[in-house]
Amino acid sequence: MTHNFLSGLTGSFAMPAAENPTVAMVEAAYRHHGLDIRYINCEVTPERLGDAVRGARAMGWIGFNCSIPHKVAVIEHLDGLGESAAVMGAVNCAVRRADGFIGENTDGKGFLQSLRTVTDPRDKTVVMFGAGGAARAIGVELAFAGAKRIIIVNRSAERGRGLADLLNSRTAVQAELVTDSAPYRVPAEAEILVNATSIGLYPDIEGRINLDVSSLHPGLIVADVITNPPRSPLIRDAEARGCRTLDGLGMVVNQGVIGIKYWTGIDVDAAVMRRTLQDLLL
Ligand code: NDP
Repeated sequence: MTHNFLSGLTGSFAMPAAENPTVAMVEAAYRHHGLDIRYINCEVTPERLGDAVRGARAMGWIGFNCSIPHKVAVIEHLDGLGESAAVMGAVNCAVRRADGFIGENTDGKGFLQSLRTVTDPRDKTVVMFGAGGAARAIGVELAFAGAKRIIIVNRSAERGRGLADLLNSRTAVQAELVTDSAPYRVPAEAEILVNATSIGLYPDIEGRINLDVSSLHPGLIVADVITNPPRSPLIRDAEARGCRTLDGLGMVVNQGVIGIKYWTGIDVDAAVMRRTLQDLLL
């Protein structure tokens, strides 16, 4: 009888890395589907990022995720970029293809896959709080998915303007910026609201975005990127107002599903991954 003791290799390069639960979630999916692949969570300093990518290439890794602080810096070490990663200027998932490691961005794609369980964003008006990395990824994917209008609500005008300009110049969506200090009132025509800021994240778990909660209308879809805790203040406020809600776990899980699909071509069971995360985080 012959054996194969050579597992496929995937993993993550980030710093810090110890609190990132992705390894547990991804390896649960590998086990569930009988895939002989490992996911190795690596702490990599910015100075060693090039060495890490060269090492992955030398060892024949199938692909890797990269997170803070490497999402932009990794690009110079890769061999090409996917379409939305090129527009965002950020990569969180490298995939080995014939041309070498190609950089993709699954942040926004994971969000979109989660959103699509309740609605199609095509021709819709979206209110999005935030203009950082997560907002950039979500804004670009919403635009590519055919959203009609994105109203960006952000504290810093400079960052907000940068994202609105990017979306208006590189995609077909109509993007506009609101930086008022008054609590934002959601217009009646908005069908989706997204919190893509870090407000509400542990330890500031009672943090609230600058929103007039009384303007949340029933039927509005309210999504939060915050995963810790998943039942963020926004999700609780939106439920109390009769909105449909999507928590940040759906986005993380779907990023995992999309990453594994890129690496292996296999559609893994999202429920297995969500259960693993919930057991760890709740
Ligand atoms: P960035 O630092 O790039 O951006 C942070 C955003 O939050 C900016 O728009 C910033 O506004 C805003 N913000 C932060 N604090 C405040 C505050 N006190 N008042 C007003 N605005 C504030 O972070 P990322 O975009 O990378 O990440 C944002 C969140 O998304 C994080 O919590 C992260 O964990 C989460 N995330 C979740 C993912 C998931 O799969 N669920 C995936 C990726 C990220 P300003 O421009 O004015 O500074």
